[in-house]
Amino acid sequence: MTEKKWVYLFSEVDQAEKYVGGKWDDVKALLGGKGANLAEMTRIGVPVPPGFTVTTQACNAYLAEGYNFPAKMWEQELQALKQVENLTGKKFGDASNPLLVSCRSGAKFSMPGMMDTVLNLGLNDETAAGMVQLTGDTRFVYDAYRRLVQMFGSVVLDLPDEAFEDVLEEYKKQKGVKSDTDLDAEDWKSLTKEFQQIVRRHKGFDFPQDPFDQLRLATEAVFKSWNGKRAIDYRNAAGITHDLGTAVNIVTMVFGNMGWNSGTGVAFTRDPANGEKMLYGDYLMNAQGEDVVAGIRNTQKIENLQNEAPVAYQQFLDICDKLEDHYREMQDVEFTIEQGKLWMLQTRDGKRTAKAAVRIAVEMANEGLISKETAILKITPEQVDTLLHPQFDPKIKKTAKEENRLYATGVNASPGAAVGQIYFDADTTERMAKEEGQNVIMVRPFTKPDDVHGMLASKGILTSEGGATSHAAVVARQFGVPCVVGAAAIRIDLEKRQMSVNDKLVKEGEWISVDGTSGEVFLGKIPTVAPTLEEQTDLLTLLKWADEVCATKGMRKAPEGWPTTGLQVWANADYPADARRARSYGAVGIGLCRTEHMFFEPERLPIVQQMILSETGAQRKAALDELLPYQRADFQGLFEAMDGYPVIIRLIDPPLHEFLPSLEETLEEVITMRVKGETDGLEDKEKLLKNIQLLHESNPMMGLRGIRLSIVMPEIVEMQVRAIFEGAANATLKGFLAKPEVMIPLTGHVNELKVIQPRLEQIAKAVMTEKGVEFPYKFGTMIEIPRAALTAAEIASVAEFFSFGTNDLTQMTYGYSRDDAERNFLLKYVEDGILPKNPFQTIDQEGVGRLMDMSVKEGRATRVNLEVGICGEHGGDPLSIDFCHIIGNNYVSCSPFRVPIARLAAAHSALKHKGVSIAADL
Ligand code: PEP
Ligand code: MG
Repeated sequence: MTEKKWVYLFSEVDQAEKYVGGKWDDVKALLGGKGANLAEMTRIGVPVPPGFTVTTQACNAYLAEGYNFPAKMWEQELQALKQVENLTGKKFGDASNPLLVSCRSGAKFSMPGMMDTVLNLGLNDETAAGMVQLTGDTRFVYDAYRRLVQMFGSVVLDLPDEAFEDVLEEYKKQKGVKSDTDLDAEDWKSLTKEFQQIVRRHKGFDFPQDPFDQLRLATEAVFKSWNGKRAIDYRNAAGITHDLGTAVNIVTMVFGNMGWNSGTGVAFTRDPANGEKMLYGDYLMNAQGEDVVAGIRNTQKIENLQNEAPVAYQQFLDICDKLEDHYREMQDVEFTIEQGKLWMLQTRDGKRTAKAAVRIAVEMANEGLISKETAILKITPEQVDTLLHPQFDPKIKKTAKEENRLYATGVNASPGAAVGQIYFDADTTERMAKEEGQNVIMVRPFTKPDDVHGMLASKGILTSEGGATSHAAVVARQFGVPCVVGAAAIRIDLEKRQMSVNDKLVKEGEWISVDGTSGEVFLGKIPTVAPTLEEQTDLLTLLKWADEVCATKGMRKAPEGWPTTGLQVWANADYPADARRARSYGAVGIGLCRTEHMFFEPERLPIVQQMILSETGAQRKAALDELLPYQRADFQGLFEAMDGYPVIIRLIDPPLHEFLPSLEETLEEVITMRVKGETDGLEDKEKLLKNIQLLHESNPMMGLRGIRLSIVMPEIVEMQVRAIFEGAANATLKGFLAKPEVMIPLTGHVNELKVIQPRLEQIAKAVMTEKGVEFPYKFGTMIEIPRAALTAAEIASVAEFFSFGTNDLTQMTYGYSRDDAERNFLLKYVEDGILPKNPFQTIDQEGVGRLMDMSVKEGRATRVNLEVGICGEHGGDPLSIDFCHIIGNNYVSCSPFRVPIARLAAAHSALKHKGVSIAADL
């Protein structure tokens, strides 16, 4: 049996590749990211100092075997070291020509700060003396030696950094100098001695003089660091599994501080802030890597290297191009020039802002370096989200946390950053914004439809109750207002007009900052940066490519008659202005217009109330006749804005009491009037109270609403359907292509539809005849009650389309209140792992999703071309979008501001399920 290979020279990447079966990702898992890239650079002829990698498997075996190296590993390490000696012509531990090496950790995924590097292994009292002979530079040698003792002490022997730093500081003070560069050869020599004594004092043994002991102990220290607290915490936070292990890289030392023809630097192959194709970096001549990072001396811009080391610079430019071409990714590189010779010490994919990521992906596709598909896959929906909402400056946010200004956290209901003065009711909020021109944030325990004007005037919204599908969350997302809901630690005192968390009081008019992306609320102001889509040409290009992917026939394998393209993205929009925005963001349909929102407009609400409180049929009809022109104009505006695209208009959904004042408030007013003996208007108030009491239900969300209300009181929906078709006819007569789809909410039994739908269709036909126009239209239903899903085959015999109302479908499937669950227990459930995700944000595939899957299959068994969409809040969530792709939806519908995110997510799903991946492109 051949011996297990634990150690790979940088020149042996072919063997590593063969061993893992050919995949680069697996090579990275075996050699770690750093080791794999050092080996790859060696393979493609980039100058890398000779070295080798001890594998992650060796690390795992070491940890599994109770901190013992696996059999033959050490022998292989020594063998590899011999080869490095041959390649460099130097010898480890030989005073006459010593080889020095560095020891660096390197896991599959970069884990910054997990484990420091040890430099200059191989130096001891003898080899140091030998190196002085060789270089004639005592200062350089003892500076290197004391760095080894210091790094070895802290990294390998676990001594506190201060043990060395304090002595160094004291030494400089005694000598009356400020900077390390002011210390001379003798200083470093005596500091090296002092550092060795520190080791002896703390550990009771001497700093190891045997270079092989140094190497062995450093290798062990890197292995052990995998299970250090810092590393475990980092992996937990970054979602990296704990069984990967780290590799150890042993690399020949090269020195950038060997005089003024030496130097060192770091660079990105493109600008990591904006993505521009230009080399971006810093360097220092006659310096070590850590001097560049530590900022001890002022670094130079990388382009100046052309003047100081023209040959090395040109070679460096060529290498950067080569690396980008090879990895097809922006690279972050480290280099050292030792006496005129350039060495590459590291390359990896460079971290970048979302803006840079999009520009780089699009430009690389245009340069032919990657395919359009890869460009799409390289950008995450979260990055698109980041680009569309104002964001807080992360550095200032961090400082705010350190200053104890984080006030509360809640559900991250609508992304973006908002800074404003707080107000506790909608009217004041609106007034302060409109009349005083203030930036305002509305703070409420929760919001209701009649708070919408305040919400619209706000830069941000904060509630102490409610969850991801609460009224505040839905409306905020729809209008792109940053919003945090359910910040349960906040006590709101509406009377005193203040809020508090423990003893921290914030009064009306004071400033706060709300981060709807993270769910955090801060005291005071944090600066923001605000982008717009129209200006982001690269993002527009990327989204156009995403649409092309989704529009391609054959993207989905599907039964005969089902859609074979990817998903379309539609939007939830109530007003023509929303529809125009949705369209400019790339929506190709309106999936939900909640008509009742239009009833809350100030000039309409009194008419709606009159209609509800009517005592006779004639009174009700008169009120409805008054509402009709308003609705017709709204709908016509929607059809014109969406010219050529379908517009789904949902008939009235909420229970009628929502349009009336609250029972409690009216009762209080009546009692107060009675107690005070006020008779003026008392009779009317009492009548109102009686009506409110008549409409009162114990469980209104399961009461007289949706299709049930339409059956009991058909006049309202009859008016709405007339308004829809008159609006569509008017738009058609003006030359627009109107495609109305009438959606009936809350169906539970097919017989409900059988009662109401034909009656409404007659109105539709009558209007078309009256107006003398024809246009395509559909009648369909929401699937938001489990019974509707379970009987989808029957429902589809009447309904021409389904739209999943997953807010209610989740509420009713789980039996969790969508308004209260998050505040009371749901967030805890998610935190404790009882539920993997908040089901009001991401579709619960096993439960709610199963009902959806069944509905699509059974619905299409009855009506093969049944149009299926989703209009619950999940329609803008990438994981839920993926699920909708799988079950065969035609489209997803979400708030206009999430449309770009959904377009990218839909393309990701189409590509992923077709088997296209980034790796396949490389
Ligand atoms: C739903 O229930 O998912 C839905 C879209 O309707 P609403 O949120 O208006 O109840
Ligand atoms: Mg609903």
